[in-house]
Amino acid sequence: MKRIVVLALTCILLLGVLVGCSKPEQSGKEKLIMSTSAGFPPYEMTDDEGNYIGIDVEIAYAIADELGMELVIDDLEFAAALEAAKSGKSDMVMAGVTVNEEREKEMIFSIPYATAVQVIIVTEDSEIRSKEDLPGKSIGTQIGTTGNIYCEDDYGEVSNVIGYDNGITAIQALKNGQIDCVVVDNAPAQTFVKDNKGLKILETEYKTEQYAIGFAKNKTELRDKVNEVLKKLIDNGTVAEIVDAYINAEPEKDYGDGFWGKFHRAFIARNRWKQYLSGVGSTLMVTALALVIGVVLGVLVAIIRTAHDQQRPGRKNVILGFVNGICKVYITVIRGTPMLVQLLIMGFVIFSSSRSYTAIGILTLGINSGAYVAEIIRGGLMSLDPGQMEASRSLGMNYIDSMRFVVVPQAFKSILPSLGNEFITLLKDTALIYTIGGKELVYAARAIANRTYEQMFPLVGSAVIYLVLVLIFTWLQGLLERRLRQSDRR
Ligand code: GLN
Repeated sequence: MKRIVVLALTCILLLGVLVGCSKPEQSGKEKLIMSTSAGFPPYEMTDDEGNYIGIDVEIAYAIADELGMELVIDDLEFAAALEAAKSGKSDMVMAGVTVNEEREKEMIFSIPYATAVQVIIVTEDSEIRSKEDLPGKSIGTQIGTTGNIYCEDDYGEVSNVIGYDNGITAIQALKNGQIDCVVVDNAPAQTFVKDNKGLKILETEYKTEQYAIGFAKNKTELRDKVNEVLKKLIDNGTVAEIVDAYINAEPEKDYGDGFWGKFHRAFIARNRWKQYLSGVGSTLMVTALALVIGVVLGVLVAIIRTAHDQQRPGRKNVILGFVNGICKVYITVIRGTPMLVQLLIMGFVIFSSSRSYTAIGILTLGINSGAYVAEIIRGGLMSLDPGQMEASRSLGMNYIDSMRFVVVPQAFKSILPSLGNEFITLLKDTALIYTIGGKELVYAARAIANRTYEQMFPLVGSAVIYLVLVLIFTWLQGLLERRLRQSDRR
């Protein structure tokens, strides 16, 4: 019976890995990579299947079509989306990007295709009536955007200007009463107010902004080609048609603000549960692959370090000493720095021109885990009575065979609990990779929160999913430990 359960769970795990690995079909056309930040409706957002939609997205598809290219969309945080285009990681950025002087120093832009102006969103009963009332207030903005820059410049000294990941998070904070207002571009403001009862828009006198497509400075050729197509799409009315369709779109269906209404919107409406499911698949895949990297690295490092420490006095090997030094630095650096910082460095510094966000996440998690696994294994190897090694050596076994047949099997049992804990930590740490653009369970939950303006259910839902996964693995670990104990007695 137990075997069947274990087998079934293994199959589920493998399935998760497969789902996570599956890639959409490729067309063979040259790719046009667009970075964006899909929390800016109606310009960019995700639909319920997790597809990217919105004005920018449709315009980008039309452009790619005209150019005979295949559009690929990378969803990042706003600042990271700009950075991706600037560094050439993506071919262009479309994210309702306002052209301003600072950005023009760093990148080049297409002709403008839309205009915008910053507005203030407040609750209907707010005492804020205009820009003049903003001093002394808590102002929510989206970090790195023009709204954020204006507010920092004008009120940074006298008010509390807060930069959120995206406008939707700021709106949620406003609804929760954590801030007094949100300053954001007018089009998303209209969507936010349409989708959320009890909010209204106040005009500001900030200057009109122009949205354009951003490119790395050396991409003049592509920019010129895009300009030509964009001009055509503006002249023949395609852009206006796209804008109209989104501005007049139906708001999300109202299921009520009660518990079940929110629950329904977060999990059931438009089959959102499927998004969580595919998030779980990716999370399991990331964990499994990072685990493989971590264990391989960990075993290697542990063997090197143990071999070095167990050398007989007076017979030190220089090469081993050197490699051992490297291993020590690796362990010290990895264990001495936060996982999140390691991820950011890998994503935005070392692999700044790679778009394999999830793969970078896997590699970083694997390298991180390797350091802990190495120390766990080393502890296990060192804890064994040296007499075990000596006895097997005196039986004529060489070092490798003694390790393989005598030391490691015994050490394995004692380190299993710590290894299990490390695996569980790794499973939970996968949640961090969304910060560098990796897609897993937290990403799915955030995408749903962005559509429903409701954080609690998606976040608590994902927490419950992690908990269930951890419980399953803890139980499996218990089974394995019991099996090993039984085999001992026989
Ligand atoms: N237009 C603003 C800017 O460029 C905001 C863009 C956005 O939030 N996606 O800074």
